Amino acid sequence: MRFWPLQVDYKKAMRLIRKAVDSGVNYFDTGWPYHLGQSEKVLGMALAGGYREKVHLVTKLPMFMVSKADDFDRFLHGQLEKLQTNYLDTYLFHSMDKGNFRKVVDFKLIDKMEKAREKGLIKYIGFSFHDTLPVFKQIVDYYPWDVVQIQYNYLDTSKQATTQGLEYAYSKNMAVVIMEPLKGGLLANPPQDVMDLLEKAQNNRKPVEWALRFLWDKKEVSVVLSGMGSEKMLDENCAYAHDAGPGCQSEADTAVLGSVVEIYEKQIAIPCTACQYCMPCPFGVNIPENFALMNAVNIKISNLQDRIFRWLDKRKYKKMASVREKVNKNKPDGNASLCTRCGQCLSKCPQSINIPDELAKCHQVLGPKKSTAKLTK
Ligand code: SF4
Ligand code: SF4
Repeated sequence: MRFWPLQVDYKKAMRLIRKAVDSGVNYFDTGWPYHLGQSEKVLGMALAGGYREKVHLVTKLPMFMVSKADDFDRFLHGQLEKLQTNYLDTYLFHSMDKGNFRKVVDFKLIDKMEKAREKGLIKYIGFSFHDTLPVFKQIVDYYPWDVVQIQYNYLDTSKQATTQGLEYAYSKNMAVVIMEPLKGGLLANPPQDVMDLLEKAQNNRKPVEWALRFLWDKKEVSVVLSGMGSEKMLDENCAYAHDAGPGCQSEADTAVLGSVVEIYEKQIAIPCTACQYCMPCPFGVNIPENFALMNAVNIKISNLQDRIFRWLDKRKYKKMASVREKVNKNKPDGNASLCTRCGQCLSKCPQSINIPDELAKCHQVLGPKKSTAKLTK
């Protein structure tokens, strides 16, 4: 999901995936909509020729595109073909919330999963989740799932499934897979006052290592999914994993992260994780990029270097397209001013962000003064 930009560089991505397997990474998670359908394809190509057998391969039934029971077979077979494999290790219902859970029940999709398992097309059954704790417990209790995938990181312990949900799933013997360990990359690039706190701990850990160790420390966590878009990220993450595991955090580490959370919570303007589920916008707005810029300029700055970065972020916004003719579904580089408030993205956001409202605020902050006056009338 993180082979940024939206159009994947196939050669580079395949090289990176194979290097990951050679380095010991043995769990690969993808999904139908990632990179507008290219993610499963490039993963299948990379794993061909002997790599497939070395990994646990996971993809998801895109629940937001399922409107009848037969869609299950259509998607599963399409995904097996794209991934160039005869079976999936795990198949997840993608992005389960109250509405998508209703579809699973109404369309009897668990029967479909079980039939696919009997045929040897999948081994394990699970779901990925974006809703509240009561909904999470309701779904967990509905079926003896093998796996669940939740959004969890040191800033999101009381959001979505929450720590309580993580422990609940573990108590039911489910493997728990963590997504968004870095909150869409936000925890990899902390503001200066967070950096100061982390550095004071004097253990030489980088921000990413802090975030990953927080998760690896928990016995309830089976797998931490970290999107890696470069060889440098891959090498660093493998090195961080080397001596981590349950019990790797000290009480002092936990106290530092507690103070870090307090700082972040005051500064994050929009809780976007850059998952791209809202994309493509039919009017060419690059929704996650607008929100990333808004968050970047909102973070408290304390030195000249940060001031320069803020200025550059504002310039980036100005360089994004502001006229409709320059963007389209496949070239979504539009700034927030191109949002027509059509509402098509609203139900797709797992973070329940009111995207058109937040885009309007982005344009007020990042756009030219003249447009700001118009917007606030
Ligand atoms: S509401 Fe705005 S951002 Fe969302 S799909 Fe419509 S035009 Fe795009
Ligand atoms: S706005 Fe929501 S759906 Fe879109 S990238 Fe951000 S978190 Fe994902």
